[in-house]
Amino acid sequence: MTEHDWGREEGFRRAPSENRDEILRADPVGEDQDEVGLRPRRLEEFVGQQELKDHLGIVLDAARAREQTPDHLLFAGPPGLGKTTLAGIVAAELGVVMHITSGPVIERAGDLAAILTNLGDRDVLFIDEIHRLPKQVEEVLYPAMEDFQLDVVLGKGPAARSIRFDLPAFTLVGATTRTGLISGPLRDRFGLVERLDYYAPVELQAIVERAARILSVAVDSDGAAEISRRSRGTPRIANRLLRRVRDYAEVRADGVIDVDVARDGLALFGVDELGLDKVDRSILESIAVMHAGGPVGLSTLSISVGEQPETLEDVYEPFLIQQGLLQRTPRGRVVTRAAFAHLAVDPPDRFAEGRSLFE
Ligand code: ADP
Repeated sequence: MTEHDWGREEGFRRAPSENRDEILRADPVGEDQDEVGLRPRRLEEFVGQQELKDHLGIVLDAARAREQTPDHLLFAGPPGLGKTTLAGIVAAELGVVMHITSGPVIERAGDLAAILTNLGDRDVLFIDEIHRLPKQVEEVLYPAMEDFQLDVVLGKGPAARSIRFDLPAFTLVGATTRTGLISGPLRDRFGLVERLDYYAPVELQAIVERAARILSVAVDSDGAAEISRRSRGTPRIANRLLRRVRDYAEVRADGVIDVDVARDGLALFGVDELGLDKVDRSILESIAVMHAGGPVGLSTLSISVGEQPETLEDVYEPFLIQQGLLQRTPRGRVVTRAAFAHLAVDPPDRFAEGRSLFE
């Protein structure tokens, strides 16, 4: 067995998303690359997502007892919630190497064949954004997932021949923002499909306190709570805000983060009370102000805020909905009274108490 290895990446890259406030972006930017050290390595260190952890723990125990690879695993949820971390935990718990790649990077069947033939026995292959795999690549993946077989077609036309290769047994861990984006045949080949939800503030507080210990940052529990409340329910953002507040604390406040330092530091970096970023606010403002509270269709909204419809649906809206600021209705997106209050904008008359919001 090989030692668990975080460093192996097969041409890994994430699609850049412009027009986003760096500090509140849920996808990794710049110094987040050093988040590797903050990643929990064992299932028991992974905070929150209790049901998912219970299921995964059973799958891994059973695989270890049988001395076989576990079923292929699919994790769904917005960026920054821990999908890559979980793939690493699966590899660490099984004592194998994790290979990392992503859907958009694997352009041709041959790219996937090269990755698959490079796997060691029982290794974990992590494919981020697996919903973006091209169709012809997906088809190569089916026999690989089912029977650890690789079908290679040699030549073209009538002379074409197909050769089968045996692959080592491996565990595919796929990550996607929404399971609904994955084709039925691919989804059916995963033995365990789990959704990650936004973290509760107490869970994020535990994550911030753990990261502070690793980074040797002095933070008291109220300071950690303040950071977690503004982290959009997302561990990656919590860790990033901790680093920003640490910088602020070192320059302005003896390096110790209490609630006042956290509040002032976050205000300085433009993080609002709910942790909303520029795009979140512009979504709410566009519906509340330009469209008098809505309803607004997704495509109109996408043009107003300059983000792809899928990004709005998968990255932004889930958090705004969870916070009770936005609703999806059959006629389009509408904002709630709470959104008007948060934006400090007077709602139109029809939002007056006692009347239905969306008539
Ligand atoms: P994703 O793959 O879903 O975009 P990652 O697995 O890369 O998210 O997680 C982003 C960062 O958040 C990691 O560096 C890790 O430190 C932290 N993190 C995520 N989930 C947890 C968790 N449950 N407990 C502690 N830290 C976490």
